[in-house]
Amino acid sequence: MTSPANVVLVFLDPAFPDGRFADASQPQLLVTDLGATRGDGIFETMHAVGGTVRKIQAHLDRLAGSAEALDLAIPTEDEWRRAISAAVSEHRSRHLPTSAPDELAVKLVVTRGVEGAPAPTSWVQVSPAGAGLRRQRETGIDVILLDRGYDSHVAERAPWLLLGAKTLSYAVNMAALRYAHKQGADDVIFTSSDGRVLEGPTSTVLMAHVKTSDDGRPVKRLVTPLLDSGILPGTSQGALFAAAKAAGWELGYGPLEPQDLLDADAVWLISSVRMLAPVNRIDGKEIGTPSLQKELTAELNELFAGIQ
Ligand code: PLP
Repeated sequence: MTSPANVVLVFLDPAFPDGRFADASQPQLLVTDLGATRGDGIFETMHAVGGTVRKIQAHLDRLAGSAEALDLAIPTEDEWRRAISAAVSEHRSRHLPTSAPDELAVKLVVTRGVEGAPAPTSWVQVSPAGAGLRRQRETGIDVILLDRGYDSHVAERAPWLLLGAKTLSYAVNMAALRYAHKQGADDVIFTSSDGRVLEGPTSTVLMAHVKTSDDGRPVKRLVTPLLDSGILPGTSQGALFAAAKAAGWELGYGPLEPQDLLDADAVWLISSVRMLAPVNRIDGKEIGTPSLQKELTAELNELFAGIQ
């Protein structure tokens, strides 16, 4: 568990151009904040290594997209960048020189504000990256498939479901994870009611195939579900796809069915802080071959580590 002593909070407040530091061990929100009473708001979780926040522009762009979907007026990019930089520096200066965690989770949160007088409440929260998530990179994970109950075209038909936005309403995602844990699994891959592979509750699904070309070269193909199938566009998937393409991989976008995952040479769940978690089993069935999975994971990890 993250203790408040390990958390740095910076509120974005018009009266404080560089952000206002707040004590994470003390109450900071009004009980009537719509983020608390309705889960009405948006967030981003970013990864900082050695004090540098990775893929910051991609996260700010996605935050802006989520804000637009929810009609929320959020702070400017410059304001976010100043507050993020202040929060990360403060976290590092509190822990340096001996105990600075090298990996930090940097969360940006915006709620609709207080009931009756809504003006967004916005803050940056910096805490050490969870050791459990980091362990999953090494050992891999077992996942189960769970029906999300929507078809894969619902996002277009029902934009009020906010499926492409990263909203604070993650109770369903967390319930799916608890359901998986009770079944002895580590994580979940959601499927649509029309049988498509969607995403994890906090991650994007990736799979790979290796084939041999006519002239005997190995051809590696990285595939992810269609981005407009009611899933959150992952900043990690986007960045890794660009790096993999530059390294000679072929890229593909679904539609994918569960059988495609079972037939893949390797499957991963990817997200900003956990990074690539290799999937060992889906619904108890082994995926790919361990040696090829290991080789492909090492190659993609190296590409992903090079992304700033
Ligand atoms: N899909 C969902 C539902 C998520 O919550 C997340 C991240 O938390 C992702 C995908 C992966 O996004 P990113 O790679 O930008 O961290």
